[in-house]
Amino acid sequence: MPVPLFDSTPDIEAHWQEYNQAIQKVMKHGQFILGPEVEEFEQKAAEYLGVKYAIGVNSGTDALVIGLRAAGVKPGDEVITTPFSFFATAESISNLGATPVFVDIDPTTFNLQPSNLQQAITEKTKAILPVHLFGLPAEMDEIIEIAEKYDLKVIEDCAQSFGATYNGQQTGSIGDVGAFSFFPTKNLGGFGDGGLITTGDEEIAELCKKLRAHGSKKKYHNEMLGYNSRLDTIQGAVLLVKLKYLDEANQQRKEIADRYFEALNGIPGLRIPVSVTRHPSPVSHIYHQYTIRILNGNRDQFREQLKEKGISTGVYYPVPQDQLPIYSDLNYELPNSERAASEVLSLPIWPGMTREHQDEVISEVKELAAESYSKNIDN
Ligand SMILES: *Cc1c(COP(=O)(O)O)cnc(C)c1O
Repeated sequence: MPVPLFDSTPDIEAHWQEYNQAIQKVMKHGQFILGPEVEEFEQKAAEYLGVKYAIGVNSGTDALVIGLRAAGVKPGDEVITTPFSFFATAESISNLGATPVFVDIDPTTFNLQPSNLQQAITEKTKAILPVHLFGLPAEMDEIIEIAEKYDLKVIEDCAQSFGATYNGQQTGSIGDVGAFSFFPTKNLGGFGDGGLITTGDEEIAELCKKLRAHGSKKKYHNEMLGYNSRLDTIQGAVLLVKLKYLDEANQQRKEIADRYFEALNGIPGLRIPVSVTRHPSPVSHIYHQYTIRILNGNRDQFREQLKEKGISTGVYYPVPQDQLPIYSDLNYELPNSERAASEVLSLPIWPGMTREHQDEVISEVKELAAESYSKNIDN
């Protein structure tokens, strides 16, 4: 029985009727761009997240670009961020003409290590961009403390963390701006591209609304260079359905993660992720990914062998952002991030994943770990 890395069919089948009705409603009223469902979704999402303003855009990447720009990031500014993320994080900074400055991660959480921030701050630093990677919130208390001390903005990359909390607060409601993605495989995934900007600041919210519509508040009265970046009404309608079941879906991910924790704890040659109970701050993890480490340089072979047994896995990310061609001349040395890139392996996880699929993953991972460990001992 092959096990994919992710499968959206259980969710779609469970709510087939509701999705159908929601989409048909949009077809009937015909307001396909920024229609009533987008506004309703923005309101419901803002309520859920505990923020004043939520602005729907085209993608998570655009949420970052527009959010950074609305927060005041300009060409020549520096934005401190994590090397261990999807390229959209640094790309959005560079696309604004600003410079990403990478600081190393905490090897236990895979998130930006706040104690590395101070040394990276210069006169040009304008903002900090933490990523709540794999659905685990970054250390926001320490990040906010430094940001306040140096008068910096904080933009949270929440692409993987819709519904995760830090000290009881939703991610995206802690910094100045939050940027969410509705890419179909994310925890709150649409039926196509989509994104959301959150903020408690009225001026930032107004600017985001202008920027997503060619720099205009009133049609054909364009005030500045903007973008064409709106959330489609059909996506708004789909996301309204999805949001209703988000807590249930995230709970299912947590239960699967708990089974993995229990089954894979203490296996030689393999490290399970930091569990929420061992995490230094009260956080909830929504397991966008359940990411283990395969030690001793065995990751790629391990992954290949799992594939042969029918188990698909992911490597997020094989190359840290600072090592990608457009930044590699800067010669960063960030050992925790480099090591993570060579060891991480994300296991299959999705809401509605059957117990049989979970068992299959657990038994194949355990068997392979035992085999490669005994081989290592022999050598
Ligand atoms: C997915 C993702 C993005 C980009 O979101 P898109 O909707 O695909 O543009 C940005 N940052 C992180 C960490 C992501 O995982």
